[in-house]
Parts: sequence; structure tokens; C-alpha cells
Amino acid sequence: MKVTNVKTQDIRFPTSKDNLGTDAVHVDCDYSATYVTIETDNDNFTGIGSTFTIGKGNDLCCKSIEYFKEFIIGKEVDEIEKELGLIWEKVTNHSQLRWVGPQKGVTHLAAAAFFNAIWDLISKIYKKPLWRYIIDIETEQLLDMLSFSYIDDVITKKEAAEIIDKKKQNLPSNIDELNSTIFPAYTTAAGWLGYSDDKMKDLVKENLQKGWTHFKMKVGQDIERDIHRCKLVRELIGKDNKLMVDSNQVWSVNETIEYINQLKQFDIMFYEEPTNPDDILGFRKIKDAHPDIKLATGEMIQNKVIFKQFIENKSLDYCQIDSCRIASINEILPVLLIASKFNTPVIPHAGGIGLCEYVQHLNLINKFIITNNDLFLSEYAESCSEHFDNPAIIKNGGYVTPTNPGYSVKIKDSSLAEFDYNNGTYWN
Ligand SMILES: [Mg+2]
Repeated sequence: MKVTNVKTQDIRFPTSKDNLGTDAVHVDCDYSATYVTIETDNDNFTGIGSTFTIGKGNDLCCKSIEYFKEFIIGKEVDEIEKELGLIWEKVTNHSQLRWVGPQKGVTHLAAAAFFNAIWDLISKIYKKPLWRYIIDIETEQLLDMLSFSYIDDVITKKEAAEIIDKKKQNLPSNIDELNSTIFPAYTTAAGWLGYSDDKMKDLVKENLQKGWTHFKMKVGQDIERDIHRCKLVRELIGKDNKLMVDSNQVWSVNETIEYINQLKQFDIMFYEEPTNPDDILGFRKIKDAHPDIKLATGEMIQNKVIFKQFIENKSLDYCQIDSCRIASINEILPVLLIASKFNTPVIPHAGGIGLCEYVQHLNLINKFIITNNDLFLSEYAESCSEHFDNPAIIKNGGYVTPTNPGYSVKIKDSSLAEFDYNNGTYWN
């Protein structure tokens, strides 16, 4: 089976109308997908991948993918599978494109979409959900597909193999038993910053009834209002449920240290992205000032090298990898392996478009063959799930294990036709 074409579509949903996704810095999100379709000479097999953006700039990701096509068009899929590690290095270290990266920003988001589509195609050919394909392949073969460039001072392939092989010893003899896993999640859906107090309270009550026990809310526009909202939510959820806050990078290091003093009274499980996502030493200063609190970050950590420093320096307590910001499985698994080595819990970022569908696979891979930590939790923020053929399913506050072949982000044809930013009926 040969790859014949790679198609990209700029898909945008007008979510800013409902204040969906609003936080301290992103006040008008139109949830968007850079949507990639890898076509083959067999009509039954296409690879679907995406990255998530919030509107303007989605076109730039689409454009970047045009430059990656040459690495797979005309190639046999089994050849792509064998050379996946090499293709990843070629794309992310492209001799000219690297100047507008390297391995960060638009080109890296684009690489995420491109490789997400390749992993989708490969796992579909094996007729397995992506998580299962990864668990089933030989460790050595898997490691050859991943990138350890610039991180072997912290984790070597040999150490990675030891971690995975040791974890694999605990797998059940019948792997199908894992299909009944429910992976615990927390919800962000009640606490968007643009929501009124009444809307937020109604959503918290509704989500409590649905069985959620962990709630995250957005803070960061005004500390007095943050205190007011935290008080409202804490009163509603009681002292046994967990509350987290996310200020989406808006504070300086010093402001964070000061505001944590005022928010501590609400027993916050973690403070997410308090300050600039590149500030490895700043995060550490916050932790040194408040040794009793926990920091979480990762959705905007741009590559595995920055993750390496955050984890090794103990600048974060919870590692929030994003499925579409760093460049797919090839880069995500090495970060999970570093986290495992340092016994750092991983709580993947989700929401947006397709992120929940992606993390349901990453959670299982991490749980079953990578992590040494025993905290299992993942974000869930229901948004636009109605546009997916097979959206992530939640039961009793946890992700139901996906069993369909592939990596789960196929958007319905009708939604593509309506919300394509270039020629969709909605935008026309
Ligand atoms: Mg966040």
C-alpha cells in the first residue's frame, strides 16, 4: 500500500460566540483543527491527523504541512513504518524550515498533525486502536520510531527499554482485558473565565451529578474575582473533591508567589501555567517560595528539550503533555519516559478539538507500559465532540477505553463541509 496524497484542511468552529475556552489570555477562541488526510492507493485506508489552534494562524500550520508531503508521498506504508524515526528527524530538522523553528511554534504544531496522521494510518492497517498497536509492538522496534535527540543526557534508549520491558511484565496475558479500563479524568468545562457566576454554578452542580470529583477553573484576570469564584466552587464541591486553578501564563513570577498566598485557603490541588511556559527557573522560584504547593504545566511546552529541563530541575510537579503541540508519539513517549524515570505524574492536557480523543490513547500507553507513578488523572473538557465520528466517551468521571482502529480524530464529513474556513458553507 502506497501513499498517494496528503491533503490539509483549515477547519474552524465559531466557538467564540459561546465564550468556550476563555481564560486569562485567550478571550475569543474559535476552536480550530489543522486537519490532515493521508490518502493511499487503497480506498479503505486513510490516515487522519490534526493539531489544535484557536483560529488565526491555522492556515500557517496547513501551509507548513505542504512542505512535509515529499517525505511520504509515493512511499509504501510499511516502509514509512520502518523509517518513521528517520522521517521524524527529517521533518523536524528540515534543512531550510528549521530556521523558522526549530522544533517549536507553527512548524512543530504542523509536524504534530502530520505525524498524528501517520500513526493513525499505521495503527488502522494493523486494525488496532493506536494505544494497543503501541503496547503490542516489540520494545526495540518502538524505540527506533521515537526521537532521543538532545535528551540522552537524561534518558538513554537503554534506560527507556528497561522501563518499558519492566512495565510489560505486569500486563495481563490476555491484553483484551485492558479494553474495560476507565481512566480517571477531571473536568474543566465548568470554569471558563467568560462564564457568569450563575452559569458556572449550574455547570458545577450538573457535573457533580454526573460523578465528577476533580474540577479545574480559570483564574488570572482579577485576583478579587478569582477569590470570589474559588469560594463559590469550593462551597459547591465540598472539601473532599479536588479543585485546581489555571491562570494560563498571565502572572509574573512575583505575582504568582503573591497570589498563591491568597488562593491557598481553597486547598488547590495544583496551580497550572501560572507564568511564562518557557520559564524553567521562574517555576522553580515559585516552588521554592511555596514548598507546600504543586505546579502543573506542559500544554505550551514547545518540545522535549524544555520538558527535559522542567522535569530534571523539578520545576513542575505534574507534567501536562499536549498531544498536538509537541510532534506526536515520536516525541511524546520520550517525554513520558523521562517523567517515569523521575517518578513525575503525568496529567495530559485536553479539550480543544481532538485533544480528548488523542489523550485517551496516551493515558493508556503511559499507564500500561511507561509510568512508574501511581497517580492516574487526565483532563477532559467537552467541546465540539458532536463533530467527531467517534468522540471520546466519559463514564463516571473517566475515559472509556477506545477500541476502534486508529487514533480517533476523524471529523464527520458533514462538519468538514460546513466549517472548512476556505470553502465551508458556514464561513461562506
Ligand atoms: Mg491550561
